[in-house]
Amino acid sequence: MFSFSLQNLAYLRNKIYLIKMTDKILIINFEEIYLKGKNQRIFIKQLIRNLKRKLANYKNYLNFSKAHGGSYFIEIVKEIPGESFEKIIDKIKNTPGITGFYVADKAGVTLEEITEKSVAHAKRYSDGFDSFAVIAKRINKAVPFSSMDIARRVGSAIHEKLNKKVDLTHPDFKLYIKVRGDYTLIYSKIIPGIGGLPVGTSGKAIAMLSGGIDSPVATFMAMNRGLHITAAHFHSVPKTSPQSIDKVKMLVKKLTDFQGQIKLYVIPVLEIQQAIAKHTDPRLRLILLRRVMLQIGERLATEEKAKALVTGDSLGQVASQTLENMKATEDATGMLVIRPLVTLDKKFIIETAKKIGTFDISILPHDDACSLFTPKSPETKARLDYVKEQYAKLDVASLIENALQKTETMVISDADNIV
Ligand code: ATP
Ligand code: MG
Repeated sequence: MFSFSLQNLAYLRNKIYLIKMTDKILIINFEEIYLKGKNQRIFIKQLIRNLKRKLANYKNYLNFSKAHGGSYFIEIVKEIPGESFEKIIDKIKNTPGITGFYVADKAGVTLEEITEKSVAHAKRYSDGFDSFAVIAKRINKAVPFSSMDIARRVGSAIHEKLNKKVDLTHPDFKLYIKVRGDYTLIYSKIIPGIGGLPVGTSGKAIAMLSGGIDSPVATFMAMNRGLHITAAHFHSVPKTSPQSIDKVKMLVKKLTDFQGQIKLYVIPVLEIQQAIAKHTDPRLRLILLRRVMLQIGERLATEEKAKALVTGDSLGQVASQTLENMKATEDATGMLVIRPLVTLDKKFIIETAKKIGTFDISILPHDDACSLFTPKSPETKARLDYVKEQYAKLDVASLIENALQKTETMVISDADNIV
């Protein structure tokens, strides 16, 4: 789905983890995790923990258990309504760390049943192919037939019943059949996941989330590299409309698709803006406000035990996002400031925003905390010493204390209603 997933790296071991259901099994791949050597177990444990949390609403339907040989099973213990099944699929698809998965049909271990279910599986995709190959493997060697017997029998049944031709070198459609312990898996099409690393495996960060297009994408990308995100939004209500906060809540809700629940801090900055407007050079307004934002972010990070701040800055995108200005902003904090979008093209950022579903929310009209406050000719090449001199004119410590006292905290849940 995303160009930064590692789907095509053939050298990675393609270990599989299984979600077992009444008649269907999801086979999940997580390739990049296998680069992790000894730490693999920690990554997989975190991934399964995240998946369990995201699927908590469906826990009456699911039974998570570890199987022999390092495999992991999530068994569906009772019939699941179709729409809930779709939601489960979506949640798995959007879980960082999962590169892709198959929805496999489950059969017994007789040639008759394997053949019947294989034809039914191929039939579902029959509009999309003319030639096919059967790739059969026995993990359970005790069965009284060989892999070759399976391939031959299933191959001729598909040829006869669906009128398709066998092509072992360049087939349009590959059907995989794996005979495991006391059941067989039949699967074909991979459903791409978003890849990356499980949320939480890289630690915690505070994401500075405006209502714009960029910061939700930056936040998603940070999550997808294993950071557990707490969001911080700065607003200028009542100078701006309260709807601008609702919009950010909608963005955060969308981002819960990836992380699961997200804590959001909503911080008023109108008084800070007024103090900046009153006491400092208008050309530096935005930089000075961003400095305060980063310092507040740092305070929240201490509270949350987070080790970095994430922003949606992108080099040269607007006049204020120059190297000089980013430096003059970042200087206010000793924290690591991560800017996932810094060298990305706007086109790529917009495409990603559309893929993750934040774009349509971001383009809803709103007045943001900064647009009201933007001077006619903002500084594009700020000199750090001058910025510091102007910053010193503010009573930053008490402005920050005040803002923190009026800060609201909420937890946005990813839960949806079971249908
Ligand atoms: P975005 O599309 O994310 O709003 P932008 O291109 O409009 O970004 P700026 O307005 O310069 O760029 O903001 C740069 C970054 O500063 C944002 O991506 C965001 O991380 C942070 N930021 C700006 N305004 C706010 C706000 N009101 N609340 C939280 N963070 C903000
Ligand atoms: Mg913006």
